[in-house]
Amino acid sequence: MAAARVAALVMAAGHGARYGGALPKQYQPLLGRTPIARVLDAFADHPAIGQLCCVIDPGMADTFAAAAGARHNVLIVHGGPTRQDSVRNGLEALAALPEPPDLALIHDAARPLLPPSAIDGVLACLAEADAAAPALPIADTLSGRDDIGFGAEVDRATLLQRQTPQGFRFAAILAAHRRFAGADAHGPATDDIALARRAGLRTMAAPGSMLLHKLTTPDDKIMLEAFLGSHGRSSVGNGFDVHAFGPGGEVILCGLAIPHDQGLVGHSDADVAMHALTDAMLGAVGAGDIGQLFPPSDPQWKGAASRIFLERALQEIRSRGAELESVDVTIICEAPKIGPHRDAMRARLAELLDLAPDRVNVKATTTEGLGFTGRREGIAAMATATVWRCL
Ligand code: MG
Repeated sequence: MAAARVAALVMAAGHGARYGGALPKQYQPLLGRTPIARVLDAFADHPAIGQLCCVIDPGMADTFAAAAGARHNVLIVHGGPTRQDSVRNGLEALAALPEPPDLALIHDAARPLLPPSAIDGVLACLAEADAAAPALPIADTLSGRDDIGFGAEVDRATLLQRQTPQGFRFAAILAAHRRFAGADAHGPATDDIALARRAGLRTMAAPGSMLLHKLTTPDDKIMLEAFLGSHGRSSVGNGFDVHAFGPGGEVILCGLAIPHDQGLVGHSDADVAMHALTDAMLGAVGAGDIGQLFPPSDPQWKGAASRIFLERALQEIRSRGAELESVDVTIICEAPKIGPHRDAMRARLAELLDLAPDRVNVKATTTEGLGFTGRREGIAAMATATVWRCL
């Protein structure tokens, strides 16, 4: 059987007034990266996910573009008056694709930490059930309430709290949403398992996670940022590369073409700085080296733009549940002069790596006329990358 086509539907049309701030919470950075970017990256980096769809408020299109970047190919859909309407809009957009998905994962953008294991757990349940969601048991005592105090206790052993991503057989959840669209005696559904149950679908609970905690109030932001900042470990990778000068009129360094009286020889575009940085990033997560991922013997990398290697290294980091924290590149040559291009190189790397410019450094040095760089035979580069892996 062919692998199931899986779409991720990210719900980002809400405004979440309780969270505070000028922008909706999914667009407010959480330790440097917005929740919407974190969620889209997590889905894009999961090997099972083929299609990304995001439901947004049409008034927030520019904010979305700025926060989520152009890295991913996202089908953008406009939200409706309620969450249920917004989900239905997203499902209809997926249904209208030439190849609609077999399975859909529906996720709140306000749950910014999305470990790959949560996606795996829900997808595993869909082998047996029509619908699945991560769920957690309740730790606190639950009770009813009256005007000033408590009502009767509720048996928490019989209860679960549901999280997202919630997964569904696509045709089944689409049919449920169509059937229960509009005015309904039950009122709008607060999640999609509620509709699945109403439609009589087979549901299953997958393992929940505290990492899937939803941002609702400012306290939630403090909690998740504290978690991100303390429950992890950093690691460091280094990289080194050399390319020889040869015929040509420019060299490519950090993705920029710099006029020079020679070029650099190499199988790809010979961007020695990006190659060193790619190796540093791969090294930081134990993912081998650039030669293993992109063998020079493979003709498809001939003349390739080295940003492909850098983007793959970033993907290797993120698919391990880690994130890139900072990079530092040193270019070693007598000529061309790097100084005039430094800021542009830094900006290019920051954009490609989705890092704030102050987390990217590019510098240059000579070897005082000594050695092969001193004899102007080529350019060397070394790089360091630090990553943070959330536990
Ligand atoms: Mg190289």
